[in-house]
This record gives sequence, C-alpha cells and structure tokens, in this order.
Amino acid sequence: MELSFKEFLQSGKDQLQRAGFAGVEAEHLLAHTLGISRMELHNPVTVAQALEGIGDTKIVEETFWSLLDRRCTHEPLQYLTGRAYFRHLELQVGPGVLVPRPESELLVESVLTHIETLSGEVSVVDLGSGSGALALAIATEAPQTHVIAVEKSPEAVTWLKANVSFIDEKVRIIEADVATALDGVKCDVVIANPPYVPDGQALPKDVARHEPAVALFGGEDGMSSPIIFIETATRLLKSGGFLAIEHHESQGEKIQRILSENFTDILLHNDLNNRPRFTTAKRR
Ligand code: GLN
Repeated sequence: MELSFKEFLQSGKDQLQRAGFAGVEAEHLLAHTLGISRMELHNPVTVAQALEGIGDTKIVEETFWSLLDRRCTHEPLQYLTGRAYFRHLELQVGPGVLVPRPESELLVESVLTHIETLSGEVSVVDLGSGSGALALAIATEAPQTHVIAVEKSPEAVTWLKANVSFIDEKVRIIEADVATALDGVKCDVVIANPPYVPDGQALPKDVARHEPAVALFGGEDGMSSPIIFIETATRLLKSGGFLAIEHHESQGEKIQRILSENFTDILLHNDLNNRPRFTTAKRR
C-alpha cells in the first residue's frame, strides 16, 4: 500500500464526496473489505491484524476501489456490504430484495404495542415479507408470537431463508402469492408492507436503478397491491384481529375507505417525516 492507511481511507472518502455521496460510506465499505467493524478502523492494531489476515494489500485496495466504483453507480450501500440494520436486527440483503426502511420500524412498534395487550400465544402473518425484517423483528421482540412470513419472489425468498436461519428459525416461511396464500388459516395479527409506490413516481437513483420494482410499485395509483393485501388480511384475521399496513402518503383516505367495510378502530399514523405512512385497524 503506497499511501498510509489513513490516506487510503481518505482517498476513498474523497472519491465518494466528489460524486455526491457521504464520505462516511467509505468507512463502511473499507470496514466491510477488511471484515472488521467501522469503529475498529480507528484501531491500528486491529487494522494491522486484518491486513495481515488477508495477506495481500493489493486485494484490499482492489476490492475497496471496486466497491467505491459500484457505490458511485448508486448501488445501495446495504447491497455492497450485504447488511442492513432494522430495529435491533442485522439482516442479510442484496439484489432482489428491498432494503428495510426506518419508517417500517414504526409499523413494527405499533404491532408490538398491540401484542402487549393480548394474553397467551399470538399468531402473526407478515404479508410480502421480503428480507423478513418485519417478521423477524416481531418474532424476536415478542417471543410469545408464532410468525408466518409470506413471500412470492424467489430472489427475496433466498434472503428471507438466510435471515430466518440466522436470526430465528421459528419463523415459518410460506412461498406463495399473497392473494391466495394460507387458505383456511386464521390469525390474530396481520402486518404488511406491500408495493405501494404509484407507477409513475420518480424515486431516488439508488432505489430506482437497483431495488426490485416488484417490491416497490403498486400500479397507476399504487393501490393495486395494497387492495389485494387488505383482501387477504380480511380473510385471515379472526374477529377482533389487528391489521397494520404501510402505504404511500397519498393513500391514507383510500385505505380508510376500503377498510371501513370490514374493520373498526381505523387509525392513520405518521412516519418520522410526519407523513401519513401506515394504518392500523381491527377486524370486525
Ligand atoms: N418506502 C419505500 C420507498 O419509497 C417503498 C416501500 C414499498 O413500496 N413498500 O422506497
């Protein structure tokens, strides 16, 4: 390595910043390259051990530069490191699955608050589970639950299986279309983050270029999938059962109208940016 380690990291930060990204992302990418944590980058002993373990600094340089180049084409940081953080979980993610979003952490929070009011075992179905972030957060934070994760995309199911086997093997995976999944099953809670973005909406480049369209877009007004997910929730929930569904900030009223047929206690909740982002309701 011609540069000192510090200069090497700084040159990565500079490359990202010139391309309009946050310099700190270079720390995540270099830590990932070395197989150490971001904090450990600041400990020369750990860095030296990691470099020695890899043996050839050329490999480190080439891997780091190639990750930086990929980041500059807007590949999500989480796809490059293969890791995403959601509540207290570290999930494996990559191409073919949506990176879990902080707004969905609030959706989980409201489900957990509801589960606290119930006694005994609680059956939960996560519709369109993706990486399994929602299902696994609930399963690990509320151990009295039995959680089923429904997902149809084969690429997403690969990530879902990895996360379930690493984090909580009790979560059951059902590879099926939400519209027809779990015929005859009844449960206490349904949670869903359906594809809800209106087809024409422009999204940030990271999302638009690299994340799966099937997990994002829900038809012209974004409502096609949410409608199907609500139909399935209506079929699955016992009387008094609880639904929490994420949606687009423009869809609160439409969701409420649809839910009013079979649900009571319909509440619209805001996300961290104060936009109406999800609705909870109780099955009549
Ligand atoms: N909130 C996500 C985004 O805008 C969309 C998630 C979804 O469609 N379920 O990137």
